[in-house]
Amino acid sequence: MTGTADVVVIGGGQAGLAAGYHLRRKNLDFVVLDAQHTPGGAWQHAWDSLRLFSPAAFSSLPGHVMPAQPGEQYPDAGHVVEYLSDHERRYGLPVHRPVRVRAVHRDGERLRVMTDTGSWSARAVVSATGTWWRPLLPAVPGREAFTGHQIHTTGYRRPSAFAGQRVVVVGGGNSGAQIAADLAVHDGIDLTWVTRRPPRFLADDIDGRALFDAATARRHALDEGRTDTGGVASLGDIVAVPPVREARDAGLLKAQPMFDRLLADGIRWRDATSAPVDTVIWCTGFRPALSHLAPLGLRGTGGHIATDGTRVLDEPRLHLLGYGDWTGPASATLIGVGRPARESARQIAELLA
Ligand code: FAD
Repeated sequence: MTGTADVVVIGGGQAGLAAGYHLRRKNLDFVVLDAQHTPGGAWQHAWDSLRLFSPAAFSSLPGHVMPAQPGEQYPDAGHVVEYLSDHERRYGLPVHRPVRVRAVHRDGERLRVMTDTGSWSARAVVSATGTWWRPLLPAVPGREAFTGHQIHTTGYRRPSAFAGQRVVVVGGGNSGAQIAADLAVHDGIDLTWVTRRPPRFLADDIDGRALFDAATARRHALDEGRTDTGGVASLGDIVAVPPVREARDAGLLKAQPMFDRLLADGIRWRDATSAPVDTVIWCTGFRPALSHLAPLGLRGTGGHIATDGTRVLDEPRLHLLGYGDWTGPASATLIGVGRPARESARQIAELLA
């Protein structure tokens, strides 16, 4: 399909929907293009036992409080998918699916958004494509030579797939801890959890609300030229959601330091001893999915593009939303994306006026 709109939002996950909500409030003409077949963004692909690290009411998009999930203090991913689907319907957001954006080009006064089903001409673009689609795998010696099974966080669904296996989970963040906890309580799995540094659990009573406050306080400190507070990282790496807490307290979540290299059929530890392994699960993070912006030749470092808030310095008609603290404090969370989305819509309305 070929079309024209004042604003094209790329990505129909929570960040794209938050942008849509605020663009609608500004009475702007916009469309949302989303590569998925159904609503919910990355939440549709999460593992079965994943739980939000905040209660429902603290995981809400602008204009619409997430209802509690019966029987769960911390909702699961299916509940988030339902909530996002409902959000789309409730506000009648014009989401086109499945439409994958291949490239964004400058086209005189406008931007041209090339997709797998045609192209859109826009006066401004919001890129809200998330990070799930660009898994990060570390350069560990021997990774290519390993003949066992390797998956990233994005490929993990449930422990039963690994019954009878020797599994190594790599990574000391939330994904690593949650997946290790999931495997640890399942009978018949020989689990080894490895982390680059000793796991840093947040205090048990700290959840996503405190993380949001810490990210916001850091942003304010940096904006006002005060000392860096350290943000979320100063509190720890792992939110002790109930399944993680239970596995840890049962003594099932003991991390080993990172191994030295992969062998054809296992791992070699630093002391040169080795252990056989069937599967390695890399819970080693993500990068922003920004390849569609390559034709714009934007400046940046470390996979990021230089921005002022969400607005791209080298292309002020383009906003980046939801990729992490560098595009707004806690903007890669349900509760945190609302504020930068509102600010993007305000700046776009000003630009188009
Ligand atoms: P996504 O959900 O990835 O949505 C982006 C959308 O853009 C997708 O539908 C994708 O298909 C589409 N897209 C991508 N590229 C293109 C393209 N080229 N063209 C068209 N469409 C495209 N946050 C919380 O608030 N609470 C939590 O408890 C929490 N837990 C998390 C646990 C894990 C394991 C992870 C990875 C993240 C968690 N987050 C949590 C962070 C964050 O809320 C999610 O990552 C969320 O999915 C980010 O939403 P998004 O809209 O930015 O990206």
